Amino acid sequence: MTKKIIAANWKMNKTNKEAKKFFKEFNPKTKNDIMFFVPFTMLSTVKKEGYMTGAQNFYHAKNGAFTGEISLEMIAETGACSVLVGHSERRTLFRETDEMCNLKIKAALERGYCVVYCIGETLAEREGNKTEAVLKKQIQKGLKDVTVHNHLIIAYEPVWAIGTGLTATVEQIRDTHAYIKTLVDVPLLYGGSANEKNCKEIFSIPNVDGALVGGASLDPVKFSQMVGYDK
Ligand code: PEP
Repeated sequence: MTKKIIAANWKMNKTNKEAKKFFKEFNPKTKNDIMFFVPFTMLSTVKKEGYMTGAQNFYHAKNGAFTGEISLEMIAETGACSVLVGHSERRTLFRETDEMCNLKIKAALERGYCVVYCIGETLAEREGNKTEAVLKKQIQKGLKDVTVHNHLIIAYEPVWAIGTGLTATVEQIRDTHAYIKTLVDVPLLYGGSANEKNCKEIFSIPNVDGALVGGASLDPVKFSQMVGYDK
């Protein structure tokens, strides 16, 4: 199998102390690319472990009166060089729109960050046969005026599969990834209840270039098995 990109999304979990414990037990035997999207307070700690490290959020402006926000320049100080944009939790809980994602993506790519842009449909949208239309809109609006794609990764994360234990079927992933690749030809990760047990099957599906992993990335043993699935 070809090399995959396997990205952990720790969400709002772990303290620095817990992160250090994780890395004592994390033992990846793999040539796959590993990324960690962690809370701001842990970026430097994780970066020191030698992995590609990224922020889960940021504000697109350079600086100014944006109380509580963090800029790309501030993130760069930690050594992190990747950012997550458009995660469904940010879209739903914090009302981030495709237009806001677009501002973030342009700002981050301009500064040389690697961007993982998350897209995905809700269960109602899938059941209403709207999956392709929703994904097309998220891509067209999110990537408006984005011309340089070489640091861009897309994560297809069906909202109904995130943190639910429900994984999309092989056919759903195969067909949806094939469709997304017709719209934009960049590395494409699958996300949604991927774990150490189902990852081998998911990674064998055409057009799956890796995974974005929430729950299963919090456990060092499980995540070691996941990133080393090819061993
Ligand atoms: C995620 O948060 O991006 C995710 C895919 O979560 P989980 O693996 O827990 O479904």
